[in-house]
Amino acid sequence: MSFLEVFEAHPWEAVRERVHSRSTADVEDALRRAAANTAGAPLRLDDLCALLSPAAAPFLERMARLAQAATRRRFGNVVQLFAPLYVSNECHNVCTYCGFSMLNKIPRRVLTDAEILAEADILKRLGFEHVLIVSGESERRVGTDYFERVCTLLRPRFANLTLEVQPLPAADYARLRRAGVSAVLVYQETYNRAGYARHHLKGRKADFVWRLETPDRLGAAGVPKIGLGALYGLEDWRVDSFFAGLHLRYLERAYWRSRYCLAFPRLRPHAGGLEPKVEMRERDLAQAMCAFRLFDNEVEISLSTRERPGFRDRAAAFGMTTMSAGARTNPGGYAEAERALARGERTLEQFHMSDERTTAEVVAALRAGGLEPVWKDWDAAYDAPAASM
Ligand code: SF4
Repeated sequence: MSFLEVFEAHPWEAVRERVHSRSTADVEDALRRAAANTAGAPLRLDDLCALLSPAAAPFLERMARLAQAATRRRFGNVVQLFAPLYVSNECHNVCTYCGFSMLNKIPRRVLTDAEILAEADILKRLGFEHVLIVSGESERRVGTDYFERVCTLLRPRFANLTLEVQPLPAADYARLRRAGVSAVLVYQETYNRAGYARHHLKGRKADFVWRLETPDRLGAAGVPKIGLGALYGLEDWRVDSFFAGLHLRYLERAYWRSRYCLAFPRLRPHAGGLEPKVEMRERDLAQAMCAFRLFDNEVEISLSTRERPGFRDRAAAFGMTTMSAGARTNPGGYAEAERALARGERTLEQFHMSDERTTAEVVAALRAGGLEPVWKDWDAAYDAPAASM
């Protein structure tokens, strides 16, 4: 069995009706259950529906207070910091929303060992211990052999390596796990199958099921942390959020040894510029984040530099547990940034950032809000027993 069977038992239109028809009484009921839930037990999928529904919008302040209490109970006052390290913008897929899409005429680059180490040196100097290795999806030039080499280079330098690359077979994940990867993120983009086909026009990513079943392969390979999420703006965010919750609940039961994290990327402007089909306002994003925190006290919640500083600072207070800082979303971006800026040039990035603060400024803002930035929550010493599970 995989998540596909669970997914197919939940037609999109039926879920849409289920979420949009929740009443004020349903929301109050879910909030009562959340308030009483000091032991941190998971709420029901029906509660998630209620908290994601339009009827929950007037309850946002109360949701945020409960979410904040649940986050502090489970995670304390800490926020984990990480930096993305883009190793390649080669991509053989055509996605309508992305600057790296194959048909975009941009300079393509795959970092060499020396270039990767130069990026690593800068991130180390900034204090980072957790690196997210990111690439476009190009199996031929940037496949498992390449990622294994990247991990071998970076593992001795960083406490935590996370991967966000093309979906791979379970055996390849097991290999990368042995090379030091402790987490893999793979976002479904949208759980609306017809909408997915409209936005993924060519390449392996057009295979909806291959992507949908990737977290199953990660769980089977024993990857310690698995990241899920949708790209908000492609379809109805309330329905996509429900499916992300359904996926999370299935995985937590099927692969209980792994931890889980959720990300909340919203469609942002890029070269080629796709406008969001469904607008997700900041207020909606806050509702979705609070709904997930109350639905699942254990899940980590991450927010990238796509969001503006003021919103990220507030999100850190009510539920976000992981954030990037000082991010560059082009390969070699950290090493090139100052030189390119001096020349008035820039490499095309995957998406435009809203939070352009330096790492030091993000750290200062967290401390001003009474939170403690954490650079390291894993160590090479944990790898051996985890790999043999
Ligand atoms: S979203 Fe990923 S797969 Fe699609 S074009 Fe961008 S980098 Fe390639």
